[in-house]
Amino acid sequence: MTTTMKRRQIVKNIALGAGTTTVLAACDRTSNSPSVQTNQSPNVRWRMVTSWPKSLDTIFGGAQTVCDRVKEMTGGRFNIEPYAAGEIVPGLEVLDAVQNGTVQCGHTASYYYVGKNPALAFGTSVPFGLTAQQQNAWYYHGGGLETMHELYADFNIISFPAGNSGAQMGGWFKREVKSKSDLNGLKMRIPGLGGKVMASLGVNVQVLPGGEIFLALDRGAIDAAEWVGPYDDKKLGLNKAASFYYYPGWWEPGSSFEIQINKSEWEKLPKEYQEIFKTAAMEANLNMLSKYDALNGKSLQELIAGGTKLIPYSPDILQAAQQAAFANYEENASKDATFKEVYEQWNKFRQKVSQLPLYYISSDLLVSR
Ligand code: CA
Repeated sequence: MTTTMKRRQIVKNIALGAGTTTVLAACDRTSNSPSVQTNQSPNVRWRMVTSWPKSLDTIFGGAQTVCDRVKEMTGGRFNIEPYAAGEIVPGLEVLDAVQNGTVQCGHTASYYYVGKNPALAFGTSVPFGLTAQQQNAWYYHGGGLETMHELYADFNIISFPAGNSGAQMGGWFKREVKSKSDLNGLKMRIPGLGGKVMASLGVNVQVLPGGEIFLALDRGAIDAAEWVGPYDDKKLGLNKAASFYYYPGWWEPGSSFEIQINKSEWEKLPKEYQEIFKTAAMEANLNMLSKYDALNGKSLQELIAGGTKLIPYSPDILQAAQQAAFANYEENASKDATFKEVYEQWNKFRQKVSQLPLYYISSDLLVSR
């Protein structure tokens, strides 16, 4: 045997030895031997409810990415099954299902739950708020994640951003809205604080999950609706129910979607699975935004070719909306100490990052501040 061959044989023996130990460890789950890794990688099965129909591969895709990547990174030991809105619970009851332990986790948007706590809006997006890039900066390096964790502690939930839509469109209207007075009495599907601002401009606001918008708009139960942007909106068929497509979506310049996890279930996970889960959420956060940015342009061209009329909001609507938005924040802050604390922290951050001209280079769908 040559020296090289001997070395290979030694390496092979070591590898075999290591493999044998792993097999023994896997078989002998009751052993107390400190050299044997017991219960380090348990089999875990979870269910994830979502606010989305499965047809939306972008946004439901964010939930799917988290589940797929957690499974892959744990060698198939941690399995999470994602469910569409309505399969286990309705799309706007994800938080409740996670809080009460019906399921271990959910993929949703915090602003669906502003009725429980208006400050939750900041976790998704607020009118004239942060772009996707700024929103991620707030979450990861501007105190946002800690802020949301504090808010969700009241619900026995921990959350992580797991998707972003980028700048959204301003919604579909059955007839033109040329000025502020045309909004008066209009029935529109629009959630979050954007809905509150629209309400202050005279709009009759409705909140429906994504999968229910088309029928309501098509049948005339509502006059207008917003969802996300060209790719998703076309998939939902909103262009077949209304012709006028407005921009910008001033209420959602960069909406974050999130994973909510029941905190008691989270604490039962091995640290390794928690770290894997957080990494998968971060991957979904980047992947969803990249996917939207890559797909929206082509869909917008197709919509216009199909007869959709693309129209900017008039300056008087934008100015009134911006004024109403900040008046709404001040009013909420005067009534609610938690909102005040979150708003002030967020607003200081917003003012700092908004000074950077970098963010405006390609932001022609955004309203300048
Ligand atoms: Ca939206």
